[in-house]
Order: sequence, then structure tokens, then C-alpha cells
Amino acid sequence: MSRPEIQVRDLHKSFGDNQVLKGIDLEINHGEVVCVIGPSGSGKSTLLRCVNLLEEPTKGQVFVGGTEITDPDVDIDAVRRRIGMVFQQFNLFPHLSVTENLTLPQRRVLGRNRAEAARIAAENLARVGLAEKADAYPSSLSGGQQQRVAIARALAMGPEVMLFDEPTSALDPELVGDVLAVMRRLAEEGMTMMVVTHEMTFAREVADRVVFMDGGVIVEDGRPEQVIGNPQHERTRHFLSRLL
Ligand code: ADP
Ligand code: MG
Repeated sequence: MSRPEIQVRDLHKSFGDNQVLKGIDLEINHGEVVCVIGPSGSGKSTLLRCVNLLEEPTKGQVFVGGTEITDPDVDIDAVRRRIGMVFQQFNLFPHLSVTENLTLPQRRVLGRNRAEAARIAAENLARVGLAEKADAYPSSLSGGQQQRVAIARALAMGPEVMLFDEPTSALDPELVGDVLAVMRRLAEEGMTMMVVTHEMTFAREVADRVVFMDGGVIVEDGRPEQVIGNPQHERTRHFLSRLL
């Protein structure tokens, strides 16, 4: 039944002399939710950014849905369409309404017409619980609402995979829950998700697997109750003890 949606093979990434990823091997199956945890600077963001080619790997391969995206001949724009990305900073256009933030990339990148883009925008705003904010401007929304708009914008492109890089780290604590609830629902709908997060409750409850990274390598990869509940490595125990 399981089919790999994301495959990372012996991935290395250096910035000058700084070896940031030192041989990452990772498979994420269709419909699987994988949370990536680890200390600051361990290479989590760089790994996510290599999976949608925002960074070019120094060595190794990445496959998405069976296509090798690290093949030099690959159509990068076609690859990016299949992968939704949500960042810590929401990166909404401040001068565009919520609906326009969702329709612009659909029209520019996918060539959808105005009516279709608007229909799909409305569907996805409803999906994140923000149908009533369609005509609002980002500055009138809370951080949590802005992040849900950013998620809806990514979903409106119809991605096969969603990557989240600390999506709740910039939010006031009382706004985190609504964003996590949207992500939880997306997971339940069967979306393949790779989520860098420090939210251990989310990781425990929603992730199929938790990957602990340190120093540019994967130290542990297993079920949440194993990696968080019964870590096998001292480095994992040390990291978790500082979070609690
Ligand atoms: P994490 O997300 O786990 O905190 P990052 O992947 O952001 O870690 O960073 C890992 C290392 O890579 C850090 O030492 C950081 O300085 C370096 N790094 C990340 N992006 C760049 C870049 N564009 N140029 C140079 N160094 C970078
Ligand atoms: Mg990071």
C-alpha cells in the first residue's frame, strides 16, 4: 500500500565550508505526516528548502512523487507546483485582499481564469475557517489568521505535498492552536506533510513519524511514542529535556 511521496537520498548541502546537511536519507509515504525536530542550526530548514529546490543540494537526490527533482533537466516550476510551502513568516502581499492573495498565484503560475481562481480561493478559505475574511486585507488579521490564509494560498495550488517550516513559531501563544487545528485537519484528510516544529503535542498526536536532526544528520526516525516518549540517543534526550 505504502508509496513514497518524498524520497531523499544521501543529501548533502554546504554553504562554502559550512557542511550543513551531511548525508540525509528519508522517505515519506503518501498521506504520511512527518515532524522534523531538532536544535536551531541543525539543518531542518535547509532540508525542507532542498525538498522544493529553494536550495540546490551539493550532492544526493530528492524525488517527489517518483520524479527526481534534483535531475538538472527538471522543470523547476513544475516541481514547485506540486509542493506547497508554509513559512514562519506568512509572506502575504499587504496591498492585496485575502482573496487576491489566493487568486494571484493561481492565475500567474497555473493560468487559471479569474472565476475559477476565485472559486478555488473561496473553497480553500472555507477549509481554513476564514470564508468571512475573503475581502479583508492582511493587516486587519491576527497572525494566526494570516498564517491560515498562507496555508489556504498554498492549498489553492493543489499541491501533492505540504512543507511547513515552524509555522507557529512567530505567533502569540493564544493563536497557535487555530493554526495547528487547520494542520491537523489537513493531516486527517490525507495530505502528505513534512512539518518542522517545536510543538511536541502536535508531533505526538498528529505525526506518523518524528525525525530528530542534529548537526546535519538524522539521529532518530520513528513513531512519536518512540522518538519523543522513549528516545534511544543521548542527543535526543538532551534536546527534549530542554523543551519540557
Ligand atoms: P535550522 O532550521 O535547523 O535552525 P538551518 O537549516 O536554518 O537550521 O541552518 C543550518 C546552518 O546552515 C546554519 O549554520 C546556517 O547558518 C546555515 N545556513 C542556512 N542557510 C544558509 C544560507 N543561505 N547561506 C549560508 N549559510 C546558511
Ligand atoms: Mg529553521
